[in-house]
Amino acid sequence: MKKHNFNAGPSILPQSTIENTAKAILDFNGSGLSLMEISHRAKDFQPIVDEAVALFKELLNIPEGYSVLFLGGGASLEFCMIPFNYLEKKAAYLNTGVWAKKAMKEAKGFGEVVEVASSAEANYTYIPKDFTVPADVDYFHITTNNTIYGTEIRKELDSPVLMIADMSSDIFSRPIDISKYALIYGGAQKNLAPAGLTFVIVKNDSLGKVSRYIPTMLNYQTHVDNGSMFNTPPVVPIFAALETLRWMKAQGGVKEMERRALEKAALLYNEIDRNKLFVGTANKEDRSVMNICFVMKEEFKELEADFLKFATEKGMIGIKGHRSVGGFRASCYNAMPKESVQALIACMQDFEKLH
Ligand SMILES: *Cc1c(COP(=O)(O)O)cnc(C)c1O
Repeated sequence: MKKHNFNAGPSILPQSTIENTAKAILDFNGSGLSLMEISHRAKDFQPIVDEAVALFKELLNIPEGYSVLFLGGGASLEFCMIPFNYLEKKAAYLNTGVWAKKAMKEAKGFGEVVEVASSAEANYTYIPKDFTVPADVDYFHITTNNTIYGTEIRKELDSPVLMIADMSSDIFSRPIDISKYALIYGGAQKNLAPAGLTFVIVKNDSLGKVSRYIPTMLNYQTHVDNGSMFNTPPVVPIFAALETLRWMKAQGGVKEMERRALEKAALLYNEIDRNKLFVGTANKEDRSVMNICFVMKEEFKELEADFLKFATEKGMIGIKGHRSVGGFRASCYNAMPKESVQALIACMQDFEKLH
């Protein structure tokens, strides 16, 4: 039976990424060695990093003066690297969910943290709109897509200070005006590569503004100066990321990824709104196109476990909602074909007919 992979992360990747990485793991470039066995300094590997950086810049239209870094540690290490590198006295954070809160927690170890707004009181079902970013903070941090709650900031915000964004789960799902940001980061395991890789897009002249000592490995400047090769970078995930970047380019780039994402999300949200059993959890105008969260209506609550079993038997994988929201979450990243979304919709309709 065909499996439809709705996992939130690590998650679905293009078939070409998986096949070409598997081939390189068996034999890298006809060298007789595995991708896992070669040095990151091997002359054959540098072109992989260079092409991945170049494609990142091309696909996202990254202006001059920015560096693309491939690091380890996950988005979670960035939660502390950001204040280490940018927080001299005070920073502003928009609290839109668990990941934003974790980022804030780390920043508090370095200085004062201003929470400009929060939707915690409504279990993060919406994106706060009416807030002001103080002009005297070192930076303003946002999480553009809240993977757990299924809310998303898709319209670029304005900020009077350096803006920093966690884009772990919506990078490459829409064109971004990079010039609005000092730094964009994320774990690669949602829309790009297997786990083990963190991407960072950093504006070079935003660095070097804090007075504290920054440990070498936690200093962005180290990685800018060494082209992500200060120490051994995650070789296999970087190769896989390059394959995904090539796939996105061949499919028509980020505009096409966005078109598909909007189409898939509209199909599924329409069904959620139409079906008598289900209801979406996120505020309609803040709905994420990547992570689609829904639950059973109050009067059908007791059917949740049945639907999960029903859908799983039909090949739906990873649709159980995060424990802090409950119900269901269908993550529809770039590599997810429309057919998988249609298969989930068919499941929802078949289940509705039974009840
Ligand atoms: C998954 C996720 C993280 C955590 O990423 P790790 O790479 O596991 O540290 C952080 N932020 C967001 C928005 C995420 O979706």
